[in-house]
Amino acid sequence: MARVIAVANQKGGVGKTTTCVNLAASLAATRRRVLVIDLDPQGNATMGSGVDKYEVEHTAYDLLVDEVPAEQVIIKDTNGKYDLISANGDVTAAEIKLMEFFARELRLRNALEPIKDQYDFIFIDCPPALNMLTVNAMGAADSVLVPMQCEYYALEGLTALIDTISKLAAVVNPDLGIEGILRTMYDPRNRLANDVSDQLKQHFGDKVYRTVIPRNVRLAEAPSFGSPAIYYDKSSAGAKAYLALAGEMLRRAERSEPETEQA
Ligand code: ADP
Ligand code: MG
Repeated sequence: MARVIAVANQKGGVGKTTTCVNLAASLAATRRRVLVIDLDPQGNATMGSGVDKYEVEHTAYDLLVDEVPAEQVIIKDTNGKYDLISANGDVTAAEIKLMEFFARELRLRNALEPIKDQYDFIFIDCPPALNMLTVNAMGAADSVLVPMQCEYYALEGLTALIDTISKLAAVVNPDLGIEGILRTMYDPRNRLANDVSDQLKQHFGDKVYRTVIPRNVRLAEAPSFGSPAIYYDKSSAGAKAYLALAGEMLRRAERSEPETEQA
């Protein structure tokens, strides 16, 4: 049965999509069966997987609103070697349509039920908002992975997000947990980043991944080639960091022993 992970942070530009695409590709490279669900109308995870969002036959809209079965919506074996449920501007309408439905928070969860046993991991790329799409992601997920930049106000934003997650969980999904907190675009020479990083570890302890994702231009370039970084430039620091994160996740799942810091 798949572990369903919502990649969420209400802030834009923190590395949600980059994390979804590259972590999914890294896990797929270790022969895990992986599905990525793009729930952001911007369709960045879709394009970053080498799928043209303007050409797709089905998107998450069809799954959420028209109840088209997941098997028909899934695009098999993208450039990241994972499967994909795509998004484009249509998904904005899904956000509005969802409001009309009974049990609207659980539509994604119910839609995934028939296909969950076909995957080891399902990643949901959330939009940068706490709207009904994100609520559906949290309703469907086992846990939330939070990418964040170690900036001055990051801790406040994170505390607010975790508060929201626990309130939502109480209503729509009592089993929802925090998968992990991921430091993205990290520059170890930046003193503020180090301070915020220390505070993060004090507050959230083991929930903070040992692996940090450095700022790396290859990660930013890869989407314009429609490919995750491990296929665009596998020797880049960015590709290596996401491969390391995949390893850390798998080890965490197998055993919960402490690990040594990686940078
Ligand atoms: P989000 O999905 O949270 O809005 P993205 O993953 O789209 O964030 O990242 C925002 C921008 O930063 C994108 O242009 C992306 O290519 C770039 N980016 C993300 N992570 C890194 C990184 N580690 N190093 C350099 N650029 C990055
Ligand atoms: Mg995004």
